[in-house]
Amino acid sequence: MLQTIKKIGVLTSGGDAPGMNAAIRAVVRTCAFHSIKCYGIYRGYEGMIDGDFVEMDARSVKGIINKGGTILKSARSKAFRTVDGRKAAYEQLKKAGIDAFVVVGGDGSFTGAMVFNQEFNFPVMGIPGTIDNDIFGTTHTLGYDTALNTVVEVIDKIRDTASSHNRLFFIEVMGRDVGHIAVNVGVGAGAEEILIPEEDLGLDRLLDSLRRSKASGKSSSIVVVAEGDKIGKNVFELKDYVEENMTEYEVRVSVLGHMQRGGSPSCFDRVLASRMGVKAVESLITGKSNYMVGLKNDVMDLTPFDQAVKGKSKINKELLRVSDIMSI
Ligand code: ATP
Repeated sequence: MLQTIKKIGVLTSGGDAPGMNAAIRAVVRTCAFHSIKCYGIYRGYEGMIDGDFVEMDARSVKGIINKGGTILKSARSKAFRTVDGRKAAYEQLKKAGIDAFVVVGGDGSFTGAMVFNQEFNFPVMGIPGTIDNDIFGTTHTLGYDTALNTVVEVIDKIRDTASSHNRLFFIEVMGRDVGHIAVNVGVGAGAEEILIPEEDLGLDRLLDSLRRSKASGKSSSIVVVAEGDKIGKNVFELKDYVEENMTEYEVRVSVLGHMQRGGSPSCFDRVLASRMGVKAVESLITGKSNYMVGLKNDVMDLTPFDQAVKGKSKINKELLRVSDIMSI
């Protein structure tokens, strides 16, 4: 028999990403549209365990669609990884009368939701929120498009300095396991090389490429390096290696770090968040549970949590070839 959902909780969990506020707004307003009560759960699963809930209505989420970060705060909860912690969270949800939740986060947050669902048969739905775009089942995660725009803007600025001083810049961008950000900003900002976790370019090929670039008359070079690139050296070791082997360039390093996560979400991320929020709440209402909402061929789709967590998000290798051709 279909369980009637009367109160839905919404939380943000794991690393924050631009668009999380727009997703909270979408969940809250879709609940209001369907006359369902909505509760914001503060500080991810940590706040769930503590019963840190606040009732939200359509007006509670005014003026946040354009804000970075998350008004509900985010956290990584060790306690939620334990049976006792999850039991405490369940008791708090029951006490507040919350009968389903939407979690905005990454694969860790989805694993937590999946375990919780198995233990308590509690309806759960996920919205992928992470700038890395490393989640299977959606072509775009929330925050990814904004991060691409932020990084491209910064690389454009670094290029001004690089070309004024004949410098070679290694720019490290986020992407521990997947090089989505690196390949896209590499093409978008006209980088000479892109180093990613999926491929080991090799030091010799890197040097060859930089030499070719110099010989072709270029006054500066930008190499975009994903955090988890496979070449086996960190970005500072790469600088030392290239300086030892290529005296033609002054080499500099720029590690972009957390600035990639901040800022006002792009229009794309705001629209995506709005669509995902509607889909998540309406899926719960129709009795679905244990899924992540995602974008496929510009259609909102559902992927079971276990597939979203286990599956691998793949980069578009065509972009590497495009980059090779563009950096001639
Ligand atoms: P990001 O991509 O930013 O790292 P994430 O959602 O993957 O986001 P995690 O820190 O891995 O971030 O997970 C968020 C929270 O989900 C954890 O702090 C923990 O509370 C919960 N969680 C993760 N894995 C599990 C698990 N196996 N069992 C129960 N809870 C889990």
